Amino acid sequence: MKDIPNLFGSMVFNDKVMRQRLPKEIYNSLKRTIAEQKHLNLDVANTVANAMKEWATEKGATHFTHWFQPMTGITAEKHDSFISPTSDDTIIMEFSGKELVRGEPDASSFPNGGIRSTFEARGYTAWDPTSYAFIKDETLCIPTAFCSYSGEALDKKAPLLRSMEAISREAMRVLKLFGRSDIERVITTVGPEQEYFLIDKQLFNKRPDLVYCGRTLFGARSPKGQELEDHYFGSIKPRVSAFMKELDEELWKLGVHAKTEHNEVAPAQHELAPIFTTTNIAADHNQLTMEVMKTIANKHNLVCMLHEKPFAGVNGSGKHNNWSISTNTGVNLLEPGKTPYENAQFLLFLSAVIKAVDDYQDLLRISVANAGNDHRLGANEAPPAIVSMFLGEELTAVLESIENDTSYNQKSQSQMEIGVTVLPHFTKDTTDRNRTSPFAFTGNKFEFRMLGSSSSISDSNIVLNTIVAEILSQFADRLEATDNFKDELASLIKETIQKHKRILFNGNNYSNEWVTEAANRGLLNLKSTVDALPYFIADKNIKLFTKHNIYSEKEIHSRYEVMLEGYAKIIHIEALTLLDIVKRDVIPSVVSYLKDLSKTAYTKKSLNSHLNCELEEKLIETISNLSACLYTNIEKLDNSILEAKNQGTTLDIAKYYRETVFISMQSLRSVIDELETLVGKKYWAFPTYGELLYSVY
Ligand code: ADP
Ligand code: MG
Repeated sequence: MKDIPNLFGSMVFNDKVMRQRLPKEIYNSLKRTIAEQKHLNLDVANTVANAMKEWATEKGATHFTHWFQPMTGITAEKHDSFISPTSDDTIIMEFSGKELVRGEPDASSFPNGGIRSTFEARGYTAWDPTSYAFIKDETLCIPTAFCSYSGEALDKKAPLLRSMEAISREAMRVLKLFGRSDIERVITTVGPEQEYFLIDKQLFNKRPDLVYCGRTLFGARSPKGQELEDHYFGSIKPRVSAFMKELDEELWKLGVHAKTEHNEVAPAQHELAPIFTTTNIAADHNQLTMEVMKTIANKHNLVCMLHEKPFAGVNGSGKHNNWSISTNTGVNLLEPGKTPYENAQFLLFLSAVIKAVDDYQDLLRISVANAGNDHRLGANEAPPAIVSMFLGEELTAVLESIENDTSYNQKSQSQMEIGVTVLPHFTKDTTDRNRTSPFAFTGNKFEFRMLGSSSSISDSNIVLNTIVAEILSQFADRLEATDNFKDELASLIKETIQKHKRILFNGNNYSNEWVTEAANRGLLNLKSTVDALPYFIADKNIKLFTKHNIYSEKEIHSRYEVMLEGYAKIIHIEALTLLDIVKRDVIPSVVSYLKDLSKTAYTKKSLNSHLNCELEEKLIETISNLSACLYTNIEKLDNSILEAKNQGTTLDIAKYYRETVFISMQSLRSVIDELETLVGKKYWAFPTYGELLYSVY
């Protein structure tokens, strides 16, 4: 058996390695820098870099890279080798402190939403020392943030770190009012559950739509889908199990606490959940997990698909972002307390989250918006596009009693000084029954369930941290100004519940009644990415982000542009891919089948003019009609793509792609899917849904 404890973190320059390899004063100085989130001084950086290089080369690394997360949502790296020439034509392996703390990748090829054109083309990367360096593929990877020379963030890590600072700062103000002066920092923690599909590589490569777009653009339903529900938590097939074992091991080596692996609802769908950790590290680890999943799958002749909706009519993949707030001393602030005083504190933080989610539904929705996720949200498999919160019956009853000044009826109840009853102990069972809720309280954390499987979790956590920071800031302002803390606290909690209870919903989020009810409550229902994105630049959101130094106004506009452009590009590529497939593969298949049918009918007739050719004739007729329809739809799609560039602003273009190009793709698809069910198997150039979904044993 493998020595897992020794394997774990073996490719990470973690605290243990630092303690072993760094002189004591350097180690202490680095730890202080990390704790206080300050810049490293160059002497310290040089020593750390050298120790890192020694360690990495011993493990076979030859290169290093600043590993960063541009706005593409995936990671980027530029490899440099450690080699450095000497005067006698030999080389030495070198890595300096300067190279460790700062890199200069060319920023011009990464999305920047217009920031770059007005500023320097170059960008720089800066080490995030709170996230450990690691070795991947014989390369020492340094987790970094990516900025323009004028300081604008060009990535997802910089704003995430800023948002963590903001929530820490504001939560500390609140905790101070509760007399918690022992606390130095507040940290948000995240455990993201990651869904994915595994498909046989040979079959995958026969589908240009999967290769170029990561999802099937056509495909008739397979006779068996997920209706028997026999896949979920079912036994894991040998090829999948071999993949999962190797995946776990690779992730453990990288210090990722991969914990749970199981089958998901759809055939060929699976999930991995790690143990939660600090948000920026969770974000790095989730990026790493997605990357390693793809690499390991490839080794097993499989393809790991992270697209939100690879197959129409089959459940898509999401990501559950389990999120909580805790103190540096390890106290979970979203855990109902044991004493009335702790409970009041819990209720205040809970109220802050409730108000934050209600006030900033739009930003939460935007944080999960992409072309892929548009196929899921609201499609009765994932939460709707309407943001609401599930608290469970018990907690809802507690809030109702606070709102109505009644006492909460629980056996062990006792009245609190501030008029709040002692909270019951929440077990998972009583809080986690509603799987349809987009944002559910699960005992001591919130589970945000709207994320798409391919997204960076940074987007949602930047928003979560910032909006809760903002409300805590408002609460702190009010509570700091009072000389009657207890009364003010009680009325603050009560008022917040009264004002924001519309966001609470314990019922079935998939039902049509909820859509109507949510509209009556005035909740937003932003159905698609293009519906949601304009809210990003609303005044209230610009105010929020600039107040907490998450984004400057320029950064907000640049991100808005990047998101809109990204959306339009995806639909554009999908449309071109579909046209290519239909013109060069579908039509030839259809024509050759028609030809054979006609030949058969003709031969039969010439043998004996009385032979019945009804089958051939009927098929020829149906397929010919569909072919004509196919042709009209191709023309329509072709024209709509040409028209796209004539639209006005980036928003107009993105909207056009959604409302015209995407819709034309859908109607073309429906014709192709019908043809697939009629054309003989040997004529059809592509693996079917059934073959793709049941390809792995
Ligand atoms: P389940 O029953 O759905 O498996 P778990 O409690 O095991 O629920 O957690 C699911 C995810 O939530 C895991 O990734 C877990 O590490 C994470 N999680 C648990 N506690 C916290 C917390 N305090 N903060 C953030 N994530 C957490
Ligand atoms: Mg979950």
